[in-house]
Formats: sequence, C-alpha cells, structure tokens
Amino acid sequence: MNKMFQEEARSIEIFDECDILVCGGGAAGHSAAIAAARAGAKNIILMERYGYMGGDATGGYVIMVPHLSYKNKQFVRGLQEEWFQRLKAVPGAILGPEGDEVGSNDPALLDRWSSIWDCTSNCQDSPKRVVRSVYFEPNQLKIEMDKMLVEESARIRVYCHSWACRPIMENDAVKGVIFESKEGRKAILAKVVIDATGDGDIFSQTGAPYSETKDLDTRNVSTAMVFRVGGVDYEQFFRTNRSNPESIGKIVQGLSELVEGQRMMPLPSERNDVVWINNWIKPMNCIDVKDLTKTEMMIRTKIREIIAFLKDNAAGFDDAFLYDIAPQLGARCSRRLVGEYVMTPLDYATHKEHDDVIAWHSTICRMNDSAPVEIPYRVLLPQKVDNLLAPGRHTSADAVAFDWISLIPQCVGTGQAAGVAAAVAVEKGTTVRDVDIKRVQDILVEQDVPLPRRKDVDPELTELVEANDYGLYTKLAKMAKENPEEVLKYRQP
Ligand SMILES: Cc1cc2nc3c(=O)[nH]c(=O)nc-3n(C[C@H](O)[C@H](O)[C@H](O)COP(=O)(O)OP(=O)(O)OC[C@H]3O[C@@H](n4cnc5c(N)ncnc54)[C@H](O)[C@@H]3O)c2cc1C
Repeated sequence: MNKMFQEEARSIEIFDECDILVCGGGAAGHSAAIAAARAGAKNIILMERYGYMGGDATGGYVIMVPHLSYKNKQFVRGLQEEWFQRLKAVPGAILGPEGDEVGSNDPALLDRWSSIWDCTSNCQDSPKRVVRSVYFEPNQLKIEMDKMLVEESARIRVYCHSWACRPIMENDAVKGVIFESKEGRKAILAKVVIDATGDGDIFSQTGAPYSETKDLDTRNVSTAMVFRVGGVDYEQFFRTNRSNPESIGKIVQGLSELVEGQRMMPLPSERNDVVWINNWIKPMNCIDVKDLTKTEMMIRTKIREIIAFLKDNAAGFDDAFLYDIAPQLGARCSRRLVGEYVMTPLDYATHKEHDDVIAWHSTICRMNDSAPVEIPYRVLLPQKVDNLLAPGRHTSADAVAFDWISLIPQCVGTGQAAGVAAAVAVEKGTTVRDVDIKRVQDILVEQDVPLPRRKDVDPELTELVEANDYGLYTKLAKMAKENPEEVLKYRQP
C-alpha cells in the first residue's frame, strides 16, 4: 500500500454562488453554458482549468467534425452548426461540403471530396455519397468560442485557470464544487452542477456509478499528442498514395517504428498546405499522470525525426516544416458515467425511440450507414445522485458505443441539452431528474436542434429515415436482428 498523509480539515472561502455551475469549457461545457443562457438562465458560471475554451477541439488540435448528415439531410445542427456558420465569415477558417453537395453521388464531387477524410460516406453496403463533415482552424474556433461567451456575459461568468477538485455533497445531492487556482482552494455553490470535465472529475466523487473498463480494440484506450506540419501539398500526398497503396503502407509502418510501434497518420486540414498528425498511443489512460507525461514527451521528442522521415518518404512533403504543437494532450477516454441509460451498439444496429430524446444524430457508426440515432436525456443523468448532469466524452455509453458518441458533435449536442435541462429545472424549481422534458425538447428545437416525431421539425427528416429503414439495410444491422449478442462484440475498424 502507498504511504499516506493525513490532510488537515480547514475552512475555505465561498468564492461565488450561482444557479448553474459548468465544470470544463470543452465542446460539451461551452455548449452547456451557452445553451443554458439562451434558454433563460441568468446566473451561470463556467469554470475551466486552462486559459481558453474548446478542450480537445481547440487545445488538442482535433480539427475535424465528422458525419453531420445522412443522405442529403443534415441532422446534427444546433450549436454545432452555429460554430461553422460563424467561422464561415472568417476567410479560410473552415472546409467541408455544404448545401446541395451533401448527399450527392456526382462523380466529380465524389472525386473532389474523397481526398478529405470522412467527407464521403464509408459504409460498404450503400453507394458512396458526399457527407457534411467540417474541418476548422482551432485558434479561430478558440476566438469564436470566447466571442460567444462575451455575448452572454450578462448571464455567464467565466473563471479560467480554475481546477474543479471536489463536489460539495449534502446526502445524495450535489450543492457545489471546491476548486483550486493560483488564489488557493475555494468553493462555488450551485443549484445544478454540470460535470463537463470529460473525465468525470466530479461525478466520480459523488457515489454515482461509473465505469473505467477498457477495450483494447477500441479507440478510447489511446491518448495523443497532435502537431501540425506546414509546407505540404496534401492533395499530392493523397493522390499518390491512392494510386499506390503500397506507399501508404510503408509510410504508416515507418512512422510507427519511430514511435515505439504506435499508430500515427497525417490527416488533412482546412488548408492544403497544412496537415495534422493524429496519433493513437495505446494503452494509455488520460487520468494517469505518468501516461499523460509519457505521451507528451514521447511524441514531442520524436517530432523532428517524424518530419524528416515524411520529407524523405512521403509525396507532397518535400518542403515540410513543424507548424505548431497542440498546447494540450489529446484525451479520449477515462471514466464513463453509468447513467440512467447506457448507449450500446444495439442503439445503432436496431431502431430505438426514446420519449426523452435530446439529440437525433448521424454519427460515424457504419452499422446503420450513419443514419441518425436517438440519444436519450438519461445518458446525461447519473444514477443515485441529484443536481448533476454529465454531457460530453464521459457520458453514459459502453466501451464500443463510446467511440461513436464521444465525438465533437455528440459532445456539443449532449452539452447543449444539459444546459437547456439545467435552465428549465432552475426556472421551474425542479431537480434535473424530474425536469419537464417536454419543455427541454421544445427549447432545443427552438435552438435549431432537430428532434424526431415533431410537427415543428422539417418532416422530410423523418420521411428520409423511414424510407431508408433507419439505415438498417447493412449486413451488420441484419445480423443484429438475428443475433443481437453478436453485435455487442462488433468493433469498428
Ligand atoms: C487525438 C484525438 C482525435 C480525435 N479525433 C476526432 C475527430 O476527428 N472528430 C471528432 O469529432 N472527435 C474526435 N475526437 C474526440 C473529440 O475530440 C472529443 O471527444 C471531444 O472534443 C471531447 O469534448 P468534451 O467537451 O467532452 O471534453 P474535452 O474536450 O476534454 O473538454 C473538457 C474541458 O474541461 C476542462 N477540464 C478538465 N478537467 C477539469 C477540471 N477538473 N476543472 C476544470 N476544467 C477541467 C478541460 O481543460 C477541457 O477544456 C478525437 C479525440 C482525440 C484526443
């Protein structure tokens, strides 16, 4: 057993009080705070350990938001689409198919978008089509996320450089959070706490059930240290490798040998002359200090060799140079809530309807060809504990479905829903467990979130999924009808 030290009890200052406290300003937490303010909440605090918003999406240089559409309709909208509409005003800040291009099978368009990963569909059981996925410049998104908060500054107080450490509990209810900063250890009291730390930093200390199970065949046991390389011709890189699959095999192998056998890959960005180098360092736990340190130092100390290798071996990399290194480590998964509902592959391989649906999302899952699935409010809701919600990459899903529900669109979507639910609970004086879910859904639709089976949502969305059997024409979905247990063993490559 480790040696222990008994810390003394002490009184700490109550730094502030609010209706809704959001811990973590990533895709989920930022969306929660903004959505709560727009839903009418007046007294919101957003607490963030770093000096900027966006988490993985901005600080981790995860600069691609995939599969917002199914066929020719965009199902993922709301705050996620607002990011892109705002960034569209900034020259060169985003890249991705839009408008009539989405869903098209025109060969010229398919050729145009095939070089940009995930901008064409990738389910083998249906013809290829253009998909709405968006690449963005992370620093421009950082700026835009700040601007969104400034617009709501009458309702949201932002405290950066503040690390949420412990929930304040009264029986099974959360009453606030203790945090640490350069000012020391202080407390904030709140009616509702939204844990959007991505790692369940708060819910894991409340007595709410959660899981840390790992599955080595999924993405979520890996960490990353992303960096960007400039001076590249990505189009040349892609087209050379497409016509010569052996060359990409050699590049992947060569990169892997440089980083202790781990996987690493150049991916496109919003500009042809810049790539981001994504990596999957396994098995790593993004709440383990030693794993975090190892990932960062291992990748950083190899960057010069990696770029030299690409210059020598990869088409389009002759003039490559280090553009920049992500300011923070890429965290994929650690603790996951075991909430009132747990998403599994069966949510994708069968059609499930939920009365408490708060997002209707197409995702990267190939089982249903990325047709939209219903995400219920209960995935945000912890068992046993009150006044607490948990949107984002630690929301309630098993180790496999997690890979499809933890991406940026789903973090934004669950964050937006958590913010609205907290605002409705505060307004009506209920707990978030007993929140008026119909009111939450009404506000989400007002906030441009399409939900199924509603008269005030474009009827063509429902018609499209019904006409296509909810995407369940794939071999995997057919297998699920005969043998659901087999589907639980499925791992998407
Ligand atoms: C390398 C990599 C590649 C990926 N590729 C893609 C991709 O191509 N497309 C895609 O859509 N998704 C991708 N993902 C997944 C996606 O980026 C994340 O799951 C998503 O951005 C998580 O958002 P979040 O808000 O839930 O969590 P985070 O982004 O982790 O945000 C959590 C926020 O909380 C803050 N925080 C944490 N703990 C505390 C605390 N105790 N107190 C105060 N603040 C705290 C953090 O600083 C951060 O700002 C990838 C992830 C990684 C790591």
